[in-house]
Amino acid sequence: MSSLIGEGTFEDRAPMALGNAQLRRNLGKATSTIRAKRAGVVAELPDWEALRAAGAAIKERTARHLDRYLEEFEASVTRAGGVVHWARDGREANAVVIALAREHGVEEVVKPKSIATDEIGLNDALEGAGIAAIETDLAELIIQLDDDFPSHVLVPAIHRNRAEIREIFERTIAEGRSLGDAPADLAEAARLHLRERFLRARFAVSGANFGVAETGTVALVESEGNGRMCVTLPEVLVTVMGIEKLVPRFADLEVFLQLLPRSSTGERMNPYTSLWTGVTEGDGPREFHVVLLDNGRTDALADEVGRQALRCIRCSACLNVCPVYERVGGHAYGSVYPGPIGAILTPQLAGAGKADSLPFASSLCGACADVCPVKIDIPEVLIHLRGRAEKPRGERAAMRALAWTFGSRARYQRAQRLARSGRLDRLPIMPPWQRMRDLPVVPKQSFREWWRERPR
Ligand code: SF4
Repeated sequence: MSSLIGEGTFEDRAPMALGNAQLRRNLGKATSTIRAKRAGVVAELPDWEALRAAGAAIKERTARHLDRYLEEFEASVTRAGGVVHWARDGREANAVVIALAREHGVEEVVKPKSIATDEIGLNDALEGAGIAAIETDLAELIIQLDDDFPSHVLVPAIHRNRAEIREIFERTIAEGRSLGDAPADLAEAARLHLRERFLRARFAVSGANFGVAETGTVALVESEGNGRMCVTLPEVLVTVMGIEKLVPRFADLEVFLQLLPRSSTGERMNPYTSLWTGVTEGDGPREFHVVLLDNGRTDALADEVGRQALRCIRCSACLNVCPVYERVGGHAYGSVYPGPIGAILTPQLAGAGKADSLPFASSLCGACADVCPVKIDIPEVLIHLRGRAEKPRGERAAMRALAWTFGSRARYQRAQRLARSGRLDRLPIMPPWQRMRDLPVVPKQSFREWWRERPR
């Protein structure tokens, strides 16, 4: 079960994750491996910084003229024989997919990994309409079989190790067989389970990594080949795509198809890159629909600082370097978008007053911004969103009191004397803030006192 925002706050969820030593071991091992691979392949490219700058510039230009590029994309898809649907929110997008599935009389759909469809809770909506959604990506399948929640943008089951996955498969799909826990054994069990479903599938729902305004082409990159089967075998293909996934020109893919694999899986290129443009007689699906999903994106676009988050190409490099993510894992963020990108994207998509705790789930160390292939200044957006977040009443009062104290030299000096007397080791109106923080120790002598007393 997935969704954009969950119950409670980051502070409510994080302690449970921190107490799970197995989770931290799984995460530490997986993120350090991906980090090392990424660093190796990035270092090979002499023009990596130029590629990052190009990626950021293309995404910026797209965002500035998004209305024009969306209309161009619609015209291009229609010209190529596809159908474009517009969805203001998840409810509308789900309704389009369900109506199309009903029109074709299907009771099951196959899906490659798609965070956009997780964001709108498509699987639950389909289930409610009596239609089974079958996840075909290995990690998504593990999550679905265990009724779990994704915890990483790229590797949704990163919190599970091989022994745990074997147990899930033996319990759900192995049909009484005992399995080994070697990657090949686990992949074979998933392949046996999925093959028959691929062959009988008539309807697929995919996400998209990129959509090209100029040609109406949609691109999907992946590592397992399940996505390629989903977008070629069934008669009907529906792609749910966030409106920020557009690039203006086909040639722009050259930049992103270098940035994405190196930043995500640490590979020079993706094992499978599928590109399709409308429908082609005798080749692939006979019907193609694309659902353009807003779901809070135009509101994010209106925010001059926050809109950077819409450049994201979902590579997950920021998660793999984040010290907070590495310790608490993805579930603590309560969203299908965890880690640093989740901390800036989820509150903007969800809207004011929702997911306000997420921008505080960061040490502001800046490691995320250093690795981001499209140069999103994540710490800048975090601080911006912290300023926008609703504050507890005690905190607002404390800040007003501080401003009053700092507003006069006499008051400031009196406060210093009070602090030095040891009578101010707690701030009585901010107990939640101090649950995990100590007030800094106040030096015995102020700078001014030292200056006055220093030998001349
Ligand atoms: S914010 Fe940057 S580093 Fe993080 S997932 Fe998006 S593109 Fe990758």
